[in-house]
Parts: sequence; C-alpha cells; structure tokens
Amino acid sequence: MGAFSLARSQGWPVSLKCGGHSYVGLSGGDGLVLDVSRLLSLRIQGDRLFCGAGWRLGPLRTALAHKGWMLPLGQCPGVGLSGFLLGGGYGPTARGLGLGCDSILDAQMISPALGRVQASQSDDLLWALRGSGYGQFGAVFEWCLQLQPIQEVVVFRKPVRETEFIEELERWQHQAPRQDWRVTSYFHLGYQRASLVGALGGVFLGTMREWRRIGWQARAEAAQMPYLAAMNRLGGAVQKRLSPFRATSDFLAQPLSAQAIGALIDQLHKGASHQVQVTFDAYGGAIDQGVGAFPPRPGRLACVQALGFERGHPHLLGEWLSEYAVRLRPFYTGEAYANYAELGRKDWREAYFGSHWERLLSLKVLHDPCFLLRHPLSLIPLGTP
Ligand SMILES: Cc1cc2nc3c(=O)[nH]c(=O)nc-3n(C[C@H](O)[C@H](O)[C@H](O)COP(=O)(O)OP(=O)(O)OC[C@H]3O[C@@H](n4cnc5c(N)ncnc54)[C@H](O)[C@@H]3O)c2cc1C
Repeated sequence: MGAFSLARSQGWPVSLKCGGHSYVGLSGGDGLVLDVSRLLSLRIQGDRLFCGAGWRLGPLRTALAHKGWMLPLGQCPGVGLSGFLLGGGYGPTARGLGLGCDSILDAQMISPALGRVQASQSDDLLWALRGSGYGQFGAVFEWCLQLQPIQEVVVFRKPVRETEFIEELERWQHQAPRQDWRVTSYFHLGYQRASLVGALGGVFLGTMREWRRIGWQARAEAAQMPYLAAMNRLGGAVQKRLSPFRATSDFLAQPLSAQAIGALIDQLHKGASHQVQVTFDAYGGAIDQGVGAFPPRPGRLACVQALGFERGHPHLLGEWLSEYAVRLRPFYTGEAYANYAELGRKDWREAYFGSHWERLLSLKVLHDPCFLLRHPLSLIPLGTP
C-alpha cells in the first residue's frame, strides 16, 4: 500500500514483476517496479496449495512433485507463476486438467485503492484474475490453488514431412480438440536451419497401456515417464529458444481449409531467414469448462502462435508478421492469447479482452482509479491522457 501511495504522490506508473517473462516487457517500465519474486512461501492443506506469488514454474513443479502433487503449469521452468496464471496459462496437461487459471481458488492482493483484498470475497475479482491477463487490478501476493495428485504420463512425438503437412494438419485440427481429455497435443511447423520441418506431439495423462488403448497416433514415438521427468524434458527444449523474438497469437474455431494451410506453408517459406515457426495448441476438453475471464472458451479448436527470431533485423520480422496477419487472420477468430502479448496490434482491445472489456474496466476503476498500473495493454478508457 505504501508503494502505491508513494507512486501516486510522485505521479509514477507502477508495474508488477514476477518471472519477468512477459513477451513485451510489461513487468518493466519507467516507473516503480514491484517485484514479487521473493515471495516464495508454500503450504499444502488437504488438496489446496497456498503459495507466495513469486514462484517460477520449474521450482514450484519440482517442490510439488516431491510432495506427490501437480498443477497444470506450462513446461518452461523460468516463467513466473503469477504472470502465467493471470494470462490463462496453457501447458501440456491443459485438456485434462484445465488452464493454469482454472486452478485458482483464491488470491490475496494489494489493491491501490482498497488495500488488502481477498479475491473470493468479490465474484468479479476472482473471475478477472482467472485469465484476463497482466497486472491490472493490484499486486497478488499469495495464491490458493487446486492441486491434482501426481501421475505418470506418456510423451509422444511424430515428425511430419513437408509433403504431408496439409494432410496431417487437416486431420489433426479435426481430431486433436475432440480427443480423449487426457491427450493434450500440438502441431508445430517451423524452420530449423535451412529446412521447413513439422512435428506433432503431446502428453497423455496415464500409462502406456491406456495410451495404446486410445489408438490415436499409433505411429508416433511414445514413452511413459514420471510427470516431472516429462516436464523437464519438454521444458529443456523451450529454454533453448530465448534469443530475441516476436510473436503473434490467434484462436481457431473452424478447421483451416487445405487452401489456407497452403497459404500458411507459403508464408513460412518467406520467413526462413527468421527461423519462423507456427504452433497449434489443441483446446477443448477441460479447457471448455473454465469459468474465468480468459476470453476464448468453448468452441475453440486451438491457439495458434506464430513466432520468429529478429536476427538483427527486427523490422523485417515485423513485416513478415504483418503479412502473416493479413493472409491468415481471416481464418482465425479475431481473439488473441494474453500470455503471448504483442504490441502494435490495432485490434488489441477486442483481441485480448473481447466482450469482457466493460466488466473488467469497472473493476479496474474500483481498484485502481488513478490508473497507477498502466502499460501498453492495460485497461484504460479511451482518451485517458
Ligand atoms: C520462454 C517462454 C515460454 C513460455 N511458455 C508458455 C507456455 O507454455 N504457456 C503459456 O501459457 N505461456 C507461456 N509463456 C508466456 C508467459 O506465460 C507470459 O509471458 C507470462 O505473462 C509470464 O509471466 P512472468 O511472471 O514470468 O512475467 P512478468 O513479466 O513478471 O509478468 C507478466 C505480467 O503479469 C503481471 N504480474 C506479474 N506478477 C504479478 C503479481 N504478483 N500480481 C499482479 N500482476 C502481476 C506483470 O505486471 C505483467 O503484466 C512463455 C513465455 C516465455 C518467454
């Protein structure tokens, strides 16, 4: 509260920082930065976790696994828990266990106007913290989350040759979002060195025997392993791609036609020098049951992320991303994923907040009437200086 008063008296904007993994640096800025990363308490009561807001996904996952529990977290170990949960939180168990934000039972927050508040005492605040994205209403300092008993998983993966892209992606987008809830899969197309490669893979919550019984992707390489080993394996691959990049995101509600997939492949070829890649993450299953402010709910087949590396030419990558949007966005829903934040998108209000805008803005005015928490994607009425 003292920090917010100081910022108000000095006219400084305030940002909140947890893991510092915002794609566009929303946790930095010129004003006062409140860093929660030292808030690392952890207490388990029954199947509920009470934890400080400063955890990163990797250490939290390991600490919980040693106690026999898991949460639907993303695989990248360095991502901060608070930013991840606030923006939705997609991970390799999402279709079975929901998004990260679906695990939120309660939160303790310092609001600039109201001081210490408990999210469950306001239906609107709890709803908003479940996925509306970014530090908009105050500083969360403790989370209460629903734990899941830890279990074995099967990790599967199949390379896809360029000649098979259209046929395989057409099939995947019909099957993956309607698959058994225990299967969370992705379809990835991207440049590796000089060639365009593809892969289909994912995680099955269960044993090898149960995986075989489902009979999906029988030609994929598959291995059963403890949950923690699986996440460490998948997370290691993500950590390697941290040189400067830019990304854009969309949601898919209608399967892409063969012609649209052809346009996507053509566009990927144009981005070879930026090692561009496009990943489809399957939705459906438990994700459709969520009740929070994460906008794109039932009926979404996948979230689609296009990403490229700047390699000293950020403007050329920007041009590639703009062209990608012009060619591909007509096939998507117009919604974007808060956790894959992007600046400069003209439709950002509709894309990130959709029909929730008014309700979220009322909450913003209640908790942060002076708009201390402001950044390029914050909820601020049009025309605010
Ligand atoms: C390498 C990499 C891999 C990723 N993988 C995934 C993935 O698999 N799935 C997925 O869904 N996303 C993924 N993301 C995106 C990631 O979830 C978001 O960027 C997320 O916002 C990062 O959270 P953070 O705490 O690390 O970042 P920060 O930059 O610290 O914070 C992000 C936002 O949350 C706000 N915030 C942080 N802490 C608090 C708090 N205590 N109270 C209120 N607001 C707060 C910040 O102000 C900021 O707006 C990935 C990102 C990277 C860079």
